[in-house]
Amino acid sequence: MKPPALKSIRNIGIISHIDAGKTTVSERILFYTGETHRIGEVHDGNTVMDWMAQEQERGITITATSTACRWRDHWINLIDTPGHIDFTIEVERSLRVLDGAVAIFSAVEGVQPQSESVWRQAGHYRVPRICLINKLDRIGADIENTLQQIRARLSARPVLLQLPLGVEHEFSGLIDLLEEEIILFSEDDLGGTVERHPLPEEEQERVRAARERVVEAAADFDDDIMTDFLEGNPVTADRLRVALRRGTIACGIFPVFLGSALRNKGVQPLLDGVIDFLPSPKEAPPIEARDPRDGTLIELPCDPEGPLCALAFKVLSDEGRKLTYLRMYSGRLTAGETLYNSTREGEDRVARLFLMHAHKRERIEQSRAGDIVAATGLKDVLTGDALCRPDRPLRIAGLSCPEPMVSIA
Ligand code: GDP
Repeated sequence: MKPPALKSIRNIGIISHIDAGKTTVSERILFYTGETHRIGEVHDGNTVMDWMAQEQERGITITATSTACRWRDHWINLIDTPGHIDFTIEVERSLRVLDGAVAIFSAVEGVQPQSESVWRQAGHYRVPRICLINKLDRIGADIENTLQQIRARLSARPVLLQLPLGVEHEFSGLIDLLEEEIILFSEDDLGGTVERHPLPEEEQERVRAARERVVEAAADFDDDIMTDFLEGNPVTADRLRVALRRGTIACGIFPVFLGSALRNKGVQPLLDGVIDFLPSPKEAPPIEARDPRDGTLIELPCDPEGPLCALAFKVLSDEGRKLTYLRMYSGRLTAGETLYNSTREGEDRVARLFLMHAHKRERIEQSRAGDIVAATGLKDVLTGDALCRPDRPLRIAGLSCPEPMVSIA
């Protein structure tokens, strides 16, 4: 398969407090992206149910580490970030691998301690984030309170992009504030149908007020929108998206989506948000690397023509074989190549390269800057090691000193 353009890739992770809904959201993402259309072709309810059941059984394996899925002609690499704060070094390391993140909060519990600490670490690495306030179907769901906690406890500026249609048991859909449309989700249909309808008359007043707050936030990142905002002129959804994207990538604002993953509501618009607001690897800040021979520090933007530099961010045993997940930061890597491990100062050879999907691995011959791939054959590489070419040694700067670690899947 032809590799996607770099601008169409999103390397993202989901960060949340335990129980906020990370697993449920991840499962729905895999369902709506990777497999739905394939199952849809032979569609009947049972096939879909079987798949869901199987996925539940295998949930941990399927969502582990990194899964490539497609949405709107883009590729999303969904990278697993450890939820437990005890694994701080692992959290840190995986945050380095992400270009953006989805932070999930429960509408009932709000901002909880673990989300607070992972949020701060993501801020430290300047990882842009969009938010999902989940569990709107539950009794006690309180969007305003959660937004207030995001402001107060995370010192962040959330920008609400949707309004709910009903709350708790009555939660039935969303209002898209950018397009000023109603979004309805078919709950019974696991295929996940989304319908868009014009805004009814009675909703127009509250939508106008809420949209004005979105325009005000976008105006901070676009002078023309600021002029239109001050003069009370209309601003199109497309212009708002461009400005909000700029603000999100600068970590100046955090777009907020609403939903109930368990009730299959809100996940597709969230995926749209990943594409619309989170950066491609090309837009992510360059990493810094040091040449260990003379100590020179260089910046490595995401450039396939640059010197090879990759980070092994997870090593695990898969069906008895060692599988090393690599984040490609710069250059290209071809199967069969001998690499220099600048962390352990030794050479190692890549046997095969794979793109990892939910149900299968796809063998590829080459990967390039921006990609997330899995490699076999790397005998001595451990989590946290940097890989480069023997004639161009590079160490990634600012990584915590890695401790030897091999996790068994
Ligand atoms: P994780 O620990 O963050 O991965 O959270 P899970 O996805 O495992 O969800 C924790 C619990 O909350 C499970 O029992 C889910 O079924 C439930 N849950 C997740 N999302 C929702 C939701 O939108 N509404 C309701 N009512 N329950 C949810």
